[in-house]
Amino acid sequence: LTSKLPSVGTTIFTRMSALAAEKGAINLSQGFPDFPPDARLLARASQAILTDNNQYSPMTGLPILRDAIASLVERHYGRKVNALSEITVTSGASEAIFDTIAALVHNGDEVILFDPAYDLYEPAVTLAGGVCKRVTLTAPNFRPDWQAFAELLTDKTRLILINTPHNPTGSCWLAEDLESLWRAIASRDIYLLSDEVYEFIHFGESAVSVHKHAELSKRSLVVSSFGKSFHLTGWKVGYVVAPAELTVELRKVHQFVSFCTATPLQQALGEHLTAEPEASTGLASFYRQKRDVLRGALASSRFKLLPCEGTYFQLLDYSAISDLDDVAFCEWLIDQVGVAAIPVSVFYQQAPRDQRIIRLCFAKEEITLLEAARRLSEL
Ligand code: PMP
Ligand code: GLN
Repeated sequence: LTSKLPSVGTTIFTRMSALAAEKGAINLSQGFPDFPPDARLLARASQAILTDNNQYSPMTGLPILRDAIASLVERHYGRKVNALSEITVTSGASEAIFDTIAALVHNGDEVILFDPAYDLYEPAVTLAGGVCKRVTLTAPNFRPDWQAFAELLTDKTRLILINTPHNPTGSCWLAEDLESLWRAIASRDIYLLSDEVYEFIHFGESAVSVHKHAELSKRSLVVSSFGKSFHLTGWKVGYVVAPAELTVELRKVHQFVSFCTATPLQQALGEHLTAEPEASTGLASFYRQKRDVLRGALASSRFKLLPCEGTYFQLLDYSAISDLDDVAFCEWLIDQVGVAAIPVSVFYQQAPRDQRIIRLCFAKEEITLLEAARRLSEL
């Protein structure tokens, strides 16, 4: 068998979570909450199953959910979108990203992404026959270099992949970044996939979003995930907002990848968003508190804390503690310290030399964060 993805192994999230379970370590590696979602939402999901919402939904998503998403996007971003022709519910943001890339990238097309990049982007581009070009972001602030970006643009560039708030770095773009991006691509035939799954988890004044950029949004597919916004990573319900002509292409793929997403979960989310329209507004302050607990507890450790402006990930520089590379250091941490983290180099094609940074997930109960920090502070 000739592999279509010869350099891809099992994801780092699966590997680190499995190692953490095997060794009984505190798992701050894979990003998922260790606390339950809103009980009212869980009750709605049980009710949806018991009241006969168990067959296929429309391919594009249940109307009650698409209408609720349209209201949410208008309320948060002031963007009016057509629930029929511009919103598609998918099985998580992952499916949305995969469908978008499969729908838009032709053989030989170039796709620009920003390294470190979430791990599913490149394999999806490769399977579509595209080639990734990368702008490298470097610690501690991971700011995009727009000159370097402009130099990568060619006649073959088809798609740009962006992600803000950013996994794994916790950095957030500024409005001027979207402006720079727009200026660079305005005169070209290029589309944008904006991965905004952490849209409600940002610690500054307000998060930058392509939804708020009138010109960019006309060329963009904006991807969101209820997994992040409602503490439900296992439900795998996400959605894409895109202009009708892009949505038509996206749906051509979506209908054959999953056709539709779990109907009772869509029903529950649709009812919940309709009944509690402000449900995700407290998310930023909820996670800011967790970030501050973790940062406070690590402040006097030998780890250097990098800035964290959004997401539920905190980066730590361990240069003062070990010379191991980050993958080996994470394996050692699980084994010797009882804490699982994610090595950041795996999100780069080529990580900056001598960069020694790991990612911790702080979507955890305070007691879990404090115990992990206590162990890490002993190093
Ligand atoms: N994009 C980013 C940046 C993510 O962090 C994640 C989930 N960790 C996803 C996409 C996938 O989201 P979902 O679980 O909804 O498929
Ligand atoms: N996105 C999650 C993270 O960054 C992991 C999702 C997964 O395991 N597929 O930790």
